[in-house]
Amino acid sequence: MALNEPDTEVLQRLGEITPVHAPTAAYLKEPRGRYTGQAAGVLRPENTAQIAAIMRVCNAHKVGVIPYGGGTGLVGGQVMEGIPRSIILSLERMHAVRDIHASDNVMVVDAGAILQDIQRAAENARRIFPLSLASEGSCQIGGNLATNAGGVNVLRYGNARALCLGLEAVLPDGTVFNGLKRLPKDNTGYDLRDLLIGAEGTLGIITAATLKIFPKPVDIEVAFINVATPQTALDLLNHMAARFGNNISAFELIHRQGLDFLAETGLAFAAPLAGRPEWMVLVECGMGAESGLKERFEDSLAEAFEGNFLQDAAIAQNLAQQRAFWDIRENIPEANRKIGVISSHDISVPVSTIPAFITQGKQIVAKINPAFRVNCFGHLGDGNLHYNVYPPQGVNRAEFDDIRGEIKDSIYDLVESFGGSFSAEHGIGRMKKADLAKYGDTGKLTAMRAIKQALDPNGIMNPGAVI
Ligand SMILES: Cc1cc2nc3c(=O)[nH]c(=O)nc-3n(C[C@H](O)[C@H](O)[C@H](O)COP(=O)(O)OP(=O)(O)OC[C@H]3O[C@@H](n4cnc5c(N)ncnc54)[C@H](O)[C@@H]3O)c2cc1C
Repeated sequence: MALNEPDTEVLQRLGEITPVHAPTAAYLKEPRGRYTGQAAGVLRPENTAQIAAIMRVCNAHKVGVIPYGGGTGLVGGQVMEGIPRSIILSLERMHAVRDIHASDNVMVVDAGAILQDIQRAAENARRIFPLSLASEGSCQIGGNLATNAGGVNVLRYGNARALCLGLEAVLPDGTVFNGLKRLPKDNTGYDLRDLLIGAEGTLGIITAATLKIFPKPVDIEVAFINVATPQTALDLLNHMAARFGNNISAFELIHRQGLDFLAETGLAFAAPLAGRPEWMVLVECGMGAESGLKERFEDSLAEAFEGNFLQDAAIAQNLAQQRAFWDIRENIPEANRKIGVISSHDISVPVSTIPAFITQGKQIVAKINPAFRVNCFGHLGDGNLHYNVYPPQGVNRAEFDDIRGEIKDSIYDLVESFGGSFSAEHGIGRMKKADLAKYGDTGKLTAMRAIKQALDPNGIMNPGAVI
C-alpha cells in the first residue's frame, strides 16, 4: 500500500490538533547509531482524544505514523529512514500517573510516563513496580509495553506483558480501545492487550496502561559471586532456587569482558571480588520482614561454596553497596556502546543449554576472527543472553561491517539449533525484519500479516517495522 508524505493541507489539519514541530536530531537517531531517521514533522499530543484525531487525519490521507517513546529501543523500531517521510508521534507530554489503587495492587499511568517515575510513584505508595532496565531513566512505559521489555527482574515478576492488566490504545483508524479495567481475570473475547503488547507500534498507539504493583520486599540481599563456569552458575541457580523459590528476583551472568570494558571506557567501579574472575553472577533475593533472609542467604552461599558451586562471594553490606553492585551490571550496556559492537545478539535458549551454547558460540566467533572480543552477559535465569561481538582493542567496528552479516547468521543459526529465539527482549523493529522472515514460524507470519491487514489496511502504523 503506497503511503503519502503529508502535504501542506494535511500538515495544517494536524497543526489544528496540536502543533507540528520540525524533527530535531534527537528524534532521528537511536542508541546503536545504525539508523538515521527522516520525518515530515513531530507531533506531541496532550491526550488520547488528540491522538485519535491525528490518526483519523493520517489514515484518511495515508500518511505514516511512527510512535515514539523514550527513543531507547535497540532494533530501530522508532526510527524510519525511508521516503515518503512519516509523522513522528511522541508520547512525551502524556506522562501522568492517573491513579494508584494500593489495595488492588494496581496503578494506571499514561503511556508517556518514564519508567523510573513509575517506579518512584509505586514506592511512594509502599509498593514496587518491578520492571527494571538500564534505560529506565529515559524509556517510557508505552515503549516498554510496545517492545514487551524484559530487564533484570523477569525471573520473579515476568516481562512487561506479565505486569500489565489492561491498556488504552488508539487504533490506526482513530478508534479508541478502552481496556483499562483493573481485573486479573477478564475472559471476554480476543485479548487486544496481548496483541498490542510487543507489536512495536505496528497495530496502534498505546496511550495508557493498568499496571500490577507489588508489596515491597523489605529484606533484600545482593551478592557478587565468582563462579568457575556457566555450568557452575546454573548449578548455583538451582541450588538457590531450591532454597528461595521465586524470591530470587535477579540472577545475572557477567563475563570478565564486561568489567574489562568498564575499565577501558573509564566507567569507574569498585572491584566487587578479588581479581577479575572470568565468570560472575549478580544475585538478588528479597523477602518480607522477619524472614531471617540474611542468615539464610549467607548459609546458602556457604553451602554452595562447600558444594563447589562458587569460588568466592561478596555479599553487599548495606544499601550503598547493593547499589554499587547493581551499577556495575547496569553500566555494562553503556560501556558496550562506547566500545562499539560489530554484531549484537539478544538471544534466548532453554536455560539448561546455556553452557553448551556459550562453548559453541565461542568456537564460532573464534573461527571467524580469533581476535574478536565477546561480551556475553545477561539474564541467566531467563535463558536470555546478550551475546555481543566486538573488534580487537583500538580497532573501529566499521572495519568489520562486511562480515557483520556472517557473524549474525552464524550465531542465529546456532540459536535456532538450540530451539531458541533470535530476539529475547528487544523486539524486531527494522533491524531484525529479515531474521523474522527467515526464522519465524510460517503459520505465525501468515497470521501476523492477516492481523496487520485487518487492523491497519492502509499500512500507516510504523511503516517498515516488524513485518
Ligand atoms: C542502555 C540500555 C539498556 C537496555 N536494557 C534493556 C533490557 O534490559 N531489556 C529490554 O527489554 N530492553 C532494554 N533496552 C531496550 C529499550 O530500553 C527497550 O526496548 C524499551 O522498552 C523501549 O522503550 P522506549 O520508550 O525508549 O521506546 P522507543 O525506543 O521510543 O520505541 C520502541 C518501539 O516501541 C514503539 N512505541 C513506543 N512508544 C509506543 C506507544 N506508546 N505505543 C505504541 N508503540 C510505541 C516504537 O514505535 C518502537 O517501535 C535497553 C536500551 C538501552 C539503551
